[in-house]
Order: sequence, then structure tokens, then C-alpha cells
Amino acid sequence: MTNTDRRQLNVAVLYPNLLNLYGDRGNARAIVQRCAARGIDVTVDGVDIGDPWSPRQRTDLVLVGGGQDREQRRVQADLQRRGDALRDYADNNGVILAVCGGFQLFGRQYRGWDGEIMEGIGIFDAVATHPGPKIARCVGNVVALWEGETVVGFENHGGRTYLNDGQEAFADVVSGFGNNGGDGLEGAKVRNAFGTYLHGAVLPKNPRLADRLIALALERRYGPTAAKLAPLDDRIALRAHAEALHAALSSTTSALARRFAQLA
Ligand code: GLN
Repeated sequence: MTNTDRRQLNVAVLYPNLLNLYGDRGNARAIVQRCAARGIDVTVDGVDIGDPWSPRQRTDLVLVGGGQDREQRRVQADLQRRGDALRDYADNNGVILAVCGGFQLFGRQYRGWDGEIMEGIGIFDAVATHPGPKIARCVGNVVALWEGETVVGFENHGGRTYLNDGQEAFADVVSGFGNNGGDGLEGAKVRNAFGTYLHGAVLPKNPRLADRLIALALERRYGPTAAKLAPLDDRIALRAHAEALHAALSSTTSALARRFAQLA
């Protein structure tokens, strides 16, 4: 057995039952499958409110999904208690994917639809604010450019995220709302922590992003040579990617056509 055959990763999914909007838990499945195809063992632990888990124990990847304000409120105090450990983990290049409601709570603060403030854990230097129930939500298919390639997903959020100066975005919006529908930015990225509004689940249809998270986790645990990943047959994943791309771009094109028809 070679060294690389023994590669193993521990994944933690935070609040898998409360923050699982649009099947965000599918992100863990994508990681497990893509690792299994390469002989990399993965354990997945769900972390619920009160569970004695800490990323200070051996953790290689933290996944957190989205949820409505109600669910965010339920997990918020528990997440705060884990804040120091999660910030240390992120500072030490710990790999994180935080989606939508999870992304908002991994920022500095989220002001919910009723005006209630939920303090976040401040891994991302960003604040999110919901303009209230009378303002339209940001809903639809998204295409964004990440490192010059497309990432696709589905968004449905009332909260708008604004990045503070110096906070890098994850991607640039091509179609859809992204962080706030105004500045063309999608998500946030700090070291190996990625925040995004993209559901889908996002990883199954964005295999390059899934592999990046896996490679970062392997590199952090075993060093750069262990981060090499054998290519997989991604025809199905890329087909899903293309379908999502098509859905997002054709709705943008028809919205533009309707607008043009009104103006003409
Ligand atoms: N409750 C948040 C909002 O509406 C997050 C929703 C979500 O996770 N999709 O902004």
C-alpha cells in the first residue's frame, strides 16, 4: 500500500437537519463519492445542537448548509459557542463550505426579516441584512465566474450580503443576484473557507469546486504531494452543470427580450 492509498478525511456537517435547504447535505455525498472513487476514505459526522464536537479534534472539512431565519435562530447560540474553535480552524487553513443561511451566520452578523439581529461567528468579514417581507427575495438560477470558470447553482434568499473592504468574494455573478443583486459579487472567500449563496446542492454539479475542497483538505493534512487527485469520469456532473447553466442563461435572455419588447 502506498502512502496515498491511506489518505483519509473527516468531514463535519453542521446542523444537518436544521440547515439543509434544497438538499445542501448532498454536498457531503459529493465529497464522499469523489473521494471513494479515488480510494480516499471519508467519515462524515453530523453535528447537532449540543453535540460535543470541536474542529480542534481531527477535522478536515466543515460543511454547513442553508436554512430559513427560523432555523438560523435555533442554531445561532450553539454556533456562537463553537465560534472560537471554528475561527481557529479557519485561521489554520481549515477547509469550510458555508451555504446561504450558513454563509450568513459565518459572517459578522445577519439581520433577519423581522429586524432581529443574529450575531455571526465572523469568519467572513461580511454583514447580511434582510430588507423585510415586503421586498422581493433573490430567487433563481445563478451562474458565476470562479477563477475564470463557471459555477452554477440555485439561490433563494431574502438577506443581502455586503462584503467589508478587503473581503474577497468567492465569484463574480454572470446571471442571478449573488450576494445582494447590486455589486455583482457572489459569496466570500478567506483562506480555505468558502461562503456562497449557491444551493443545488452545489458540489455535485460543480465538480471542480468539490475537488478543490478535497485537494485543500488533503494538502492541509498530508502536504502538497498528497493533494493530487486522479481525474474522474465527470460526464454526468458536467451534464448537470450544463443544464443549470442553460436554465440560468435562458431565463436571463428571455427577461432581457421581454424588457426589450417593452422598450421597443
Ligand atoms: N434565511 C435566509 C434568507 O432568507 C437564508 C435562506 C437560505 O438559506 N436559502 O436570507
